[in-house]
Amino acid sequence: MIRENLAEVRSNIAKACEKVGREPSEVTLLAVSKTKPVEMIREAMAAGQRAFGENYVQEIEEKYAVLGDNADWHMIGHLQRNKVKYIIGKVSLIHSVDSLRLAEQIQKEAEKHSVTVRVLLEVNVANEESKWGFTPDETVEAVKAVAAMPNVHVCGLMTSAPITEDAESNRVYFRQLRKLFDDIKAMNIENVDMQVLSMGMTGDYTVAVEEGSTLVRVGTGIFGARDYSKLQ
Ligand SMILES: *Cc1c(COP(=O)(O)O)cnc(C)c1O
Repeated sequence: MIRENLAEVRSNIAKACEKVGREPSEVTLLAVSKTKPVEMIREAMAAGQRAFGENYVQEIEEKYAVLGDNADWHMIGHLQRNKVKYIIGKVSLIHSVDSLRLAEQIQKEAEKHSVTVRVLLEVNVANEESKWGFTPDETVEAVKAVAAMPNVHVCGLMTSAPITEDAESNRVYFRQLRKLFDDIKAMNIENVDMQVLSMGMTGDYTVAVEEGSTLVRVGTGIFGARDYSKLQ
């Protein structure tokens, strides 16, 4: 099942790329494995998948203890400042930097361990009340502020577009984030490398790819529906 799902998602990404003249190699597929057991992750790894996205620090710790660096772990969920210390050295990218206070905490822990932590700034493009992240208007200043932190490396932007039945309705948000991404890239800010534009989930990743996403975060489309009751 997982192998077939992965093949289908990869094929959909390739088709979306072809439609707009992009190379599929420009798009990273992040398999979102939150709430899913290590066994399913192993199955995906056997089918060639390496990058996995997780939302909860405790799950990262548990899965990392088993699989270690055989998988490439990404933190994509809201991160509490007091938990930063548990994921330093385990994840290759934190997608969900949604406040300067969080970035400062990451700087502190990274400095303590003499490492550089790669991050994306999360942007709430649709200005949804319920969502974390910087507003589009705040983002440039936030990028500059984080760029001044020597152990934190800004590698791009991330957004979660609104949950919708109609993926097309999110096109406007993907386009808006892409523009912000390009604008910031053109500023050539020191200690900022705009490489990763993390947008698109199961419901809307093909539209996101058409609009320039370089990393799509797909959970349900690979692992099936989630059962949150298993999370403590
Ligand atoms: C859960 C989650 C995803 C994956 O969602 P699906 O709709 O299952 O693909 C992607 N991004 C974030 C930030 C998530 O929390």
